[in-house]
Amino acid sequence: MDEFKEKRQTIRNLMEYAVPEGKIAEAVDLLDIYREDSIALALLQEFYSFLPDAVNDWIHEIRLVNRRQGVFLLAVLTGENEYLYIVSSEGVEFQGPLTEGIWDRELLNFFEYEDREKFVQTCKSARDFEIYEPVGSDENICPACHAATGELHELGCPIELCPWCGGQLIRCNCRFDKLEVETLSSEEDLIRFEEILNEQGRIPYSPEQRPSFADEGPGIVID
Ligand SMILES: [Zn+2]
Ligand SMILES: [Zn+2]
Repeated sequence: MDEFKEKRQTIRNLMEYAVPEGKIAEAVDLLDIYREDSIALALLQEFYSFLPDAVNDWIHEIRLVNRRQGVFLLAVLTGENEYLYIVSSEGVEFQGPLTEGIWDRELLNFFEYEDREKFVQTCKSARDFEIYEPVGSDENICPACHAATGELHELGCPIELCPWCGGQLIRCNCRFDKLEVETLSSEEDLIRFEEILNEQGRIPYSPEQRPSFADEGPGIVID
């Protein structure tokens, strides 16, 4: 929790320089909504560190344009404009004004948009999209790696269940048994384990996998 507090403090300090007069209370309200959401906090920090048009500005809404495998395509509505950002646990990337759409070919493919023109046609206004809900409160998102229901976890996610024993995949002993080793010591071991795991069939995220009490740490309660 301390990590969030520190992040909020950093954002709060940046706001002092970035937010236009009279808007600070509303800007802080939004920060409060996402107080424990690592995705939104990363976005807010990026925005207030590098104001898109280098003028004082503030975010009053964050909307979810698309999301896949822990990667979020978010639109922010600011006092000046609407902008697109890509956010994941890997970091934040500014994409430019929403009206210009996505230029990056790979990104368009990843989210299955035919091309930039198609994207622009379907995404005219950020208000067409739902408000981005803090991921912690959305049951259909893995709280650790942000995979959606039905998607595979990021390998190494503490919520992923083992397809052999049903336990916590990063904790059980199946990886040693299957590889017939004492420890997983090399990149090669990991790659081999991933292959065996894929053959067996990995268990995608579903809401029942959520830890029943957040403060019980990484322990997973099954059924
Ligand atoms: Zn996960
Ligand atoms: Zn196991």
